[in-house]
Formats: sequence, structure tokens, C-alpha cells
Amino acid sequence: MPVIALVSMPSPGRRTAKSPINEFSLIRTLQQRYTFKSSRIIRGIGDDAAVIVSGHNRRQLLTTDLLAEGIHFNLRTATFADVGFRAAAANLSDIAAMGGIPEYVLVSLAMPRSASAAQVGQLYRGIMAACRPHDVRLIGGDTSASAMGWFINITLVGSAPSRHVLLRSGARPGDDLYVTGTLGDSRAGLQLLGQRMPARSRLLPARHRRVLLERHLRPTPRIREGRWLSTRRWATSAIDISDGLSGDLRHLCQESDVGADLNLSALPISTACRAYAISAHENPAMLALAGGEDYELLFTVPCRQRTRFQRAMAMDRIRATRIGAMKAAGEGLHVTLSNGRRHPLPFISYEHFSSKT
Ligand code: ADP
Ligand code: MG
Repeated sequence: MPVIALVSMPSPGRRTAKSPINEFSLIRTLQQRYTFKSSRIIRGIGDDAAVIVSGHNRRQLLTTDLLAEGIHFNLRTATFADVGFRAAAANLSDIAAMGGIPEYVLVSLAMPRSASAAQVGQLYRGIMAACRPHDVRLIGGDTSASAMGWFINITLVGSAPSRHVLLRSGARPGDDLYVTGTLGDSRAGLQLLGQRMPARSRLLPARHRRVLLERHLRPTPRIREGRWLSTRRWATSAIDISDGLSGDLRHLCQESDVGADLNLSALPISTACRAYAISAHENPAMLALAGGEDYELLFTVPCRQRTRFQRAMAMDRIRATRIGAMKAAGEGLHVTLSNGRRHPLPFISYEHFSSKT
């Protein structure tokens, strides 16, 4: 597959054309400017959740996400319950990436004056549908009017024993790279929601369509997998895939100060996603690399553990695929194509403020 096909993909969000701010460099600047040493703050800016000392051998995990109407969701294609579910799932996924137990949720809403009690009720039903399976309790939030559509901010609080916290920064050269579940489904689902050409979507069987829409609107946070990886101490590092494999692998490499080689033909892509890619004349590897919002876990395991790890995964029904290996930082990030050629991995993550997307 030509590498050039990997370098541009239209963004699912609306860009804020007037803003010159790059989201990732903003975070880097904040990280450099405001990180300070404290024995209570184990991790501040830079991971999926902040890690704070909380009693003897225990860590508190804190994460927050903001969803803006027109940027992260479209009320013409998603119900309020879907929006609430996805907002909660995105936060639960960050706790999963830390190997933690999610515990409490706070919800802040800014809503237009036209909002109805029924809409808010649906939104909370969605939030709690995502939280209830993990016994996460709603403990607070804030409410405001908005002059510019809906804004939903969710904060999740979780915890983990100190020995079991998974960081982005623990990967070492030589570690194997794995990802849970399949990649690209959410992006395919999002594109299906935006399709205005019923003729094209008729090429895709209804069962595949259902799977992809569900994966986009109701993603599964990998709490069980994160806990399994952390309590068994298999993983040296982990991150959840919210921006897309390509971008999130880059974050993992930056925080661990390592490089990586991805094996393109090993990427786990579902039958539904492949069928969609054929029907839409898209490259399935591109959906998997750049798609985003998969909320799968990307993690590393020392390669000397490979046999034992894979046997343990099979026994405990953990679904993850080995997709590459970590390298020394100087080697950078590369992708090996099915023809065996190795190319630099282009940076194709979805950035909210990018002028290219
Ligand atoms: P994720 O996709 O896992 O939610 P983000 O890319 O949103 O992670 O954030 C990465 C890190 O940057 C996190 O530690 C987050 O708390 C921090 N961060 C993001 N935006 C801001 C901000 N505006 N101010 C301070 N920290 C931020
Ligand atoms: Mg994350």
C-alpha cells in the first residue's frame, strides 16, 4: 500500500479555523511550565489520568474530558443518551489505561436555553448506563446556561494500589506492543453517521452497519483488561486510544523516551470495518491508524514474557493483538508494510486545532 495514502485523512470534527493553537504543543507547554515536584503528585499533566498519593500504598486517579456540540458530537446523528454514554466511556477508558478502578463521577453541563428536562434526563441515563456496570456513583457537578450549544464535562475519580498503576512512561526498547480489541470501527461508524448517500451504504450489510454504529456511539471502556494488565503486572506501559493509534503511539513513545516499529499487516481490523472500507473505497489500515475514539488499550509487555503472557491472555479471555515492538528513541517511529518495506510513521492523529484537518 502506498505510504502517501496514510498521510491525510479528513477530520471528523469541525476545525476552529481562527485558532492557531495546536492541542499537543499546548499540553507540552503546560506540562513544562507547571510541572513541579511534590511527593504527593506522582503524575500531573502528561498521562491518561493524574496520579496522587492517597493513604498508604494507594493512589487516587483523576481525569476529565470536555465534549462540545458540533466538535465532538452532532445531535442530528446521536441521541442525548448516546452522547452521555460516550462522554462517560471516554473518561472510564482513561482510568482503564491507568489500570485503575473507577469510583466516582462529576458531571458539568452548559446547555442552551431551549434545552428540555427530557433531554437532560436522557443524557444522564446514557452517562449512568456507562457507569453502572463499574459501580461508579455520581457525586456532583455543575450546571450553566450556554449561548453556543451543549457542553458536557465529565470528571472521573478512581484508585489503584500504588504497585498497580500503569503509566505511559514505562515502555522499554525490546518490549512487545499490543492493542486490545479491534481498530477503526469507531471511525467507520462515525463516517456512516455522516453519510448522505444511501446508495453507497446499501453496499454494506445491515449487521456490519449495526456493529460499527454501536462501536462509535457506545464504546466499551476496557476496565477489565486494564485491571488485569496492572494487577498481574504484565504491562510496562499503557495508553488508551482516543486520538488514533498513530498519535497515541507517539504519545506513549514520547513519555517513555523510546521509538517503535508497527507491523501494519498485524493491525486487528474487524470484518465489519473491512466490509465498510470496501464499500466506501477506503483503506482499512488508514481507518485503524488514524481513526480515533476506539477506546482500546495500547500497551507494552517485555518480549521475554511473550509465551507466558499469551498463554495467560488465552486462559483469561483477554483479547489483544501483538502489533509491533518498541525500539531505542533514536530509531524513531516506523511502520512495516505487508511488502516488508519499513517507512517512517507519519503523524496523522486527529488534532482539534490543526489547520490541515
Ligand atoms: P486523553 O486523550 O487521555 O484524555 P489528553 O490528550 O486530553 O489525554 O491530555 C493529555 C494530558 O494533558 C493529560 O494529563 C491532561 O490532564 C492534560 N491536559 C489536557 N488539556 C489540558 C489543559 N487545558 N490544561 C491542563 N492540562 C491539560
Ligand atoms: Mg487517554
